[in-house]
Amino acid sequence: MARAALGKSRTAKQQIGRAEPGRVYLRPPSVEAGLEAPATMIRLPAFTYLAPSTVDGAARLMTEHGRDAMLVAGGTDLYPNMKRRQFEPKVLVGLRRIRELRGIRGSTAGGFTIGAGTTLSAVAAHRDILRDFPALATAAGLVSSPQLRNMGTIGGNVCVDTRCNYYNQSYEWRRAIGFCMKKDGDICLVAPGSSRCWAVSSSDTAPVLWALGAKLRLVGADGERTVPMAALYRDDGIEYLAKRPDEIVADVQLPGAEGWRSVYLKLRRRGSFDFPVLGVAVAARMEGDVVRDARIVLGAVAYPYRKKITRVFVARAIAAIAGLGDGGAASEEVA
Ligand SMILES: Cc1cc2nc3c(=O)[nH]c(=O)nc-3n(C[C@H](O)[C@H](O)[C@H](O)COP(=O)(O)OP(=O)(O)OC[C@H]3O[C@@H](n4cnc5c(N)ncnc54)[C@H](O)[C@@H]3O)c2cc1C
Ligand code: SF4
Repeated sequence: MARAALGKSRTAKQQIGRAEPGRVYLRPPSVEAGLEAPATMIRLPAFTYLAPSTVDGAARLMTEHGRDAMLVAGGTDLYPNMKRRQFEPKVLVGLRRIRELRGIRGSTAGGFTIGAGTTLSAVAAHRDILRDFPALATAAGLVSSPQLRNMGTIGGNVCVDTRCNYYNQSYEWRRAIGFCMKKDGDICLVAPGSSRCWAVSSSDTAPVLWALGAKLRLVGADGERTVPMAALYRDDGIEYLAKRPDEIVADVQLPGAEGWRSVYLKLRRRGSFDFPVLGVAVAARMEGDVVRDARIVLGAVAYPYRKKITRVFVARAIAAIAGLGDGGAASEEVA
C-alpha cells in the first residue's frame, strides 16, 4: 500500500506546478497530489507529562519545575488553550492518578467534601448534592457538553482560565490582530488605555460555591491552608487566582445545608453547550418564611453590564428560592 502511494506520489509530483487553469484549489496542490498530509488539526506543543500519585508529590513537582510547570486535571480547558499557544508549559503535572482527590463524602448537617478531581458529571448526578445543593448540581450539569463533563473536574472548573473574545482565539487569529497583553502582546484590545486585563471568570460552579459559602483546601509544598471561595479570586484577568502555582486545590468543602435553598440560572450564546455570558447564583437560609441569610453571586460579568437581563435573572432566582415559581429554564440563550 505504501509502495502504491509512493508510485502515485511520483506521478503526482511531476504534475505539481502544472495546476489546471481555472481550477479552485481548496488545499495546496502538493496536498491535492497526496504528497503531504493536510493540516487538519491544531497540534499540542511538546511537553513532559508527570503523573504523581499523591497531592504532596504533585505539589513537590510543581515547586521543582517552577514556572515551566502547570497542573492538569481533565485537560478539557488546558489542552485546547495549549493548542492555541495561550499556555506553553514544558511540564504538565497530571492529577488524574491521585485517588485522594476523588469522591464526595459528608452529611446534610455537617456539610460535604468534594474531592477536586471529582468529575462534573459525578457532582451533577450525586443524590445528596441534588437534594441539598440543587444550584451546584445544576451548574455542574450545565458546563459544556456530556463528554467534557465526564472528563472535566470541579477543581479544574474553579481554576479555569478567564475568557475574552480577543483572547479565546487561535494563535493565527491573535497574531493577525497583534496579540494582547494576556499573551504575547502589550496592550489590552478591549480597553487600549488600560494597564490591566479585563477577561472574566467564566466558571459555572464558582459563583454557586461562593454563594453557598464553600471553602477550598489548598495543598502546597510547604503545607496546606483552607480559604473561602471568595478569597481564591483576584480582580485581574491575567493573575486571576490568589494562590501560588504550586498550590493544588485538594477539595471543596460545603457547609451544612440545613435551612438553605439555592438556585443557579445561566445565560449563554448557544443553548446546546457554551460558557456562561451571565451566571446567577442565589442561596438563602430560611426559617419558615423568613430569610435569615442570603447571598447573590454573579458569574461571567466583571460588572453587570447586562443590567436589564441580570435584574430579570436575579428576580427569577429569588422568586424560585421563595417558592413563588420554578425560576424558568435553568439555562437560556442570549436573545
Ligand atoms: C467547548 C468548551 C466548552 C466549555 N464550556 C464550559 C462551560 O459552559 N462552563 C464552564 O464553566 N466551563 C466550560 N468549559 C471549560 C472546562 O471544560 C471546564 O471549566 C472544566 O471544568 C475544566 O476542568 P478540567 O478538569 O478539565 O480542567 P483542566 O483543563 O485540566 O485545567 C483548567 C485549569 O485549572 C487548573 N487546575 C485543574 N485542576 C486543578 C487543581 N485541582 N488545583 C489547582 N489548579 C487546577 C489547571 O492548571 C488549568 O489552569 C468549556 C471548555 C470547552 C473546550
Ligand atoms: S481584556 Fe485581557 S484578554 Fe481581553 S483584550 Fe484585554 S488584555 Fe486581552
